[in-house]
Amino acid sequence: MARIHQMTIPEFELAFVTDEDCADYLIAHRWPHGVIVCPRCGETEKVFSVKTMAYKWQCYSCAPDSGYRFSVIAGTIFENTNKGLREWFHVIHMMLTSKKGVSALQVQRVMGFGSYRTAWYMCHRVRAGLADENFRKLMGIVEIDETYVGGSWKNKHVSVRRQAHKGGRGTPGKTMIVAAVERGGSVVALVLDKATTEALGAFVREAVSDHVSLICTDQYPGYNALAGRYIHRSVDHSKGQYVVGAIHTQTIEGFWSLVKRGVVGTFHKVSAKYLPLYVAEFQFRYNNQNNDNIFGAAISAC
Ligand SMILES: [Zn+2]
Repeated sequence: MARIHQMTIPEFELAFVTDEDCADYLIAHRWPHGVIVCPRCGETEKVFSVKTMAYKWQCYSCAPDSGYRFSVIAGTIFENTNKGLREWFHVIHMMLTSKKGVSALQVQRVMGFGSYRTAWYMCHRVRAGLADENFRKLMGIVEIDETYVGGSWKNKHVSVRRQAHKGGRGTPGKTMIVAAVERGGSVVALVLDKATTEALGAFVREAVSDHVSLICTDQYPGYNALAGRYIHRSVDHSKGQYVVGAIHTQTIEGFWSLVKRGVVGTFHKVSAKYLPLYVAEFQFRYNNQNNDNIFGAAISAC
């Protein structure tokens, strides 16, 4: 695997001395072609900078008379907070440079924030920003697998999972995450409220291209319905079968181990309510592991 480039702390300190440095960086990543887009109407034609105020623009497309005034942070997660951009950037940098993620408590300590709540809120806002709703559908060989969070981790015994599946609601107290990964490509992960065959099918249709060459899963019966639509092969873990030629789920296991170490090791207890946000963070980190500009990608997503 290629070397992962992450901005070091000295590089960060050099690049972002002031909030203005951060604002310039945000502009460069938000509007990379130099064309300012109005965050309210999406127009670019009648947007002018406000001469007397730095980092402020006015759009006369959506407000022909008065002009709609907006700042560089309008429509971003940095809006309406009492933290400066430099503090936000610091938090994002911390979150991205740690492979397993950082807890809000660590953020509070390192950043010297007075309240835990502030740190917690910032981390969650960043996670919401990193959620990728416009992903490209997965192609090639795709592995699909599911895991349960809360209580004990993925149960190796198919019978127990079958039981959970039959109930249609998952194991009590546990939440199902389903993920699909393209070999050599991206992962798409989703928290499912109901672990039904229908919900799994809907996820797969959403995440995976119809032109995929092969879908690999284990023997979980929830995937049986894939057969009609895709070329689907499975390995039977209950029979000790893990790799049969190209048919395996090793890639997705790698993603689960990252999620597992993060959620169990770093975040300890993650409530089902916020699990989708943590999943978004792990998905982003996985999908940008070879991205030389992961920090810039995060900033433009936020
Ligand atoms: Zn506008």
